[in-house]
Amino acid sequence: MNIDQFVKFVQEQYKTTDFIPLHVPRFQGNEKKYVMETIDSTFVSSVGAYVDKFEQMIAEISRTEQAVAVVNGTAALQVALRLAGVKTGDEVLTQALTFVATANAIAYNHAHPVFLDVDLDTMGLSPKSVEIFLEEYGEIREDGCYNKKSGNRIAACLPMHTFGFPVHLNELVEVCNKWSIPVVEDAAESIGSTYHGKPTGSFGQFGIYSFNGNKIVTAGGGGAIVTDDKQLGDFAKHLTTTAKKPHKYEYVHDELGHNYRMPNLNAALICAQLEQLDSFIQSKRNLAVKYKAFFKEKGIKFRTENPDTKVNYWLMCVELNDRKERNQLLNETNEKGVMTRPIWKLMYKLPMYEHCFRDEQTNAEYLEDRIVNIPSSCNG
Ligand SMILES: *Cc1c(COP(=O)(O)O)cnc(C)c1O
Repeated sequence: MNIDQFVKFVQEQYKTTDFIPLHVPRFQGNEKKYVMETIDSTFVSSVGAYVDKFEQMIAEISRTEQAVAVVNGTAALQVALRLAGVKTGDEVLTQALTFVATANAIAYNHAHPVFLDVDLDTMGLSPKSVEIFLEEYGEIREDGCYNKKSGNRIAACLPMHTFGFPVHLNELVEVCNKWSIPVVEDAAESIGSTYHGKPTGSFGQFGIYSFNGNKIVTAGGGGAIVTDDKQLGDFAKHLTTTAKKPHKYEYVHDELGHNYRMPNLNAALICAQLEQLDSFIQSKRNLAVKYKAFFKEKGIKFRTENPDTKVNYWLMCVELNDRKERNQLLNETNEKGVMTRPIWKLMYKLPMYEHCFRDEQTNAEYLEDRIVNIPSSCNG
């Protein structure tokens, strides 16, 4: 590809020749108003009306029964896995092609990640690789599914919707149901994306979202756990708010909880952001159409949504022919002030996870060599 043409095209989209980052937040709605309200009211911390409002908005957007606000997406994952029943020594099926938080949340529960391959079309956990693994290793016993070779319980399956592109959820949920394995969706990147018209995050026993500064909508830092099980939702709230029993003045905590509360200050920001989620997604989808046309002309594969899915296009990406081409694009664009970034290094290449079980990883390795993110902020 002619890198100069690409740089020029991106500069035109963002109407600037300054440095263009991968993703920047945009605050053009009620952000200042809501945040100032929390300051004026003194309710900036762990209790406040915006926390409740945020939880309602997330339940509505995800079309789930209950949403619980937490301090970040990683904490949301950690607690969702705990509530799904993940205990010390258990195994959790997930993908190696992900952001490190997915695997870390498993490790925080003293469980073992099992890295299974992704699909080429979704870049997320492949139902086929889960099925093949379970056919070989799975055994259903009285209290759930076990890995008959390692002897460990297979306590959960944790797919991640890469850059907002949903995994093949129907097939994945079906195979997990067959083996009595609860699904927890890492939908950190995919709020607003749908699969057969249903929001990602709402297919598993739990789903989680992240509202970190680089995500499509931000709380500064924040996360949410969603579930259709009201009882589990209440329990998630309890565990993330120090497991305190309601009482007028006594400090009674009935188990080991966490202080994972989202401050009202952050909730105010994200409420204002969520009001604009649809317009952000529309802006990104418009940009994706332009990128698609640009790259088509250049003979480069720009990643677009699968049929039956609607993608939020949080981070957009191209697929190059090999690692050499990938590195060339990365080097030249970053030098010329247009930020690009490779997809993550596979989890088993990191020191903490190199000992973990993994299958062939043909597709994950293929994508690791080829996928590059390009500037994806809203621009219109
Ligand atoms: C951002 C992200 C998280 C974690 O979110 P934080 O809010 O930064 O803790 C988890 N998983 C994936 C895939 C993410 O992209």
